[in-house]
Amino acid sequence: MLASFYYSGYGGYLIWMLPIVILSAVASAAVQSNYKKYSKVLTRRGMTGAQIAEQILQANGIYDVTVKKIPGNLSDHYNPKEKYIGLSGGVFDSTSVSALGIAAHEAGHAVQYHEGYAPIKFRNALVPVTNFASTFSWILIFIGLLLSEIVALAGVVLFGVTVLFQLVTLPVEFNASNRALAVLEGGYLDEEELAGAKKVLTAAAMTYVVALLTSLLQLFRYLIIISGNRRRR
Ligand SMILES: [Zn+2]
Repeated sequence: MLASFYYSGYGGYLIWMLPIVILSAVASAAVQSNYKKYSKVLTRRGMTGAQIAEQILQANGIYDVTVKKIPGNLSDHYNPKEKYIGLSGGVFDSTSVSALGIAAHEAGHAVQYHEGYAPIKFRNALVPVTNFASTFSWILIFIGLLLSEIVALAGVVLFGVTVLFQLVTLPVEFNASNRALAVLEGGYLDEEELAGAKKVLTAAAMTYVVALLTSLLQLFRYLIIISGNRRRR
């Protein structure tokens, strides 16, 4: 009785989600605080985020990708379809440790595409399937719980695709950060500045780890709900 309350009821849901909610909050607070802290530390060479991104593109022989300023805060990304590196105002024009770390990371994604880095190709191939899976997996699980366990399990397998997507995201993100740090180490940042950039990028990477953990826990929870449903039948 108590066990079934913990595992399936609303109280159960809260207990499952609490560690994740805390972990997500800690991870995003770490991103914000590191970003803020190292946005105030200006690099001695005085190069801006936009300039470092341009330099990395040129050094890798990439001439069809532009660097542009985009609205928002921490909204920086690489858009492979439209071939641009979008840098927020706090990165594009800034000469801070945060700006250089983030700009070099996004440029790292452009280099990954240029080189045909396998995990990013695989991750992209998964995007449409993942969108489908995240919409339909829970519907299948819901219907399956009412009608048939096979349908529910099919929903769990479909949900597994979203977990796989998040798993493949990890090497892509870690690799982009490693590329960024290697470039920055080669003459753009001194030792102290580099340590700061590493903190900013590590905090950002942790949010992807937390996202994966969240999905894994959700997957596990679905399986427990399905097996609890079996016992009740
Ligand atoms: Zn990234």
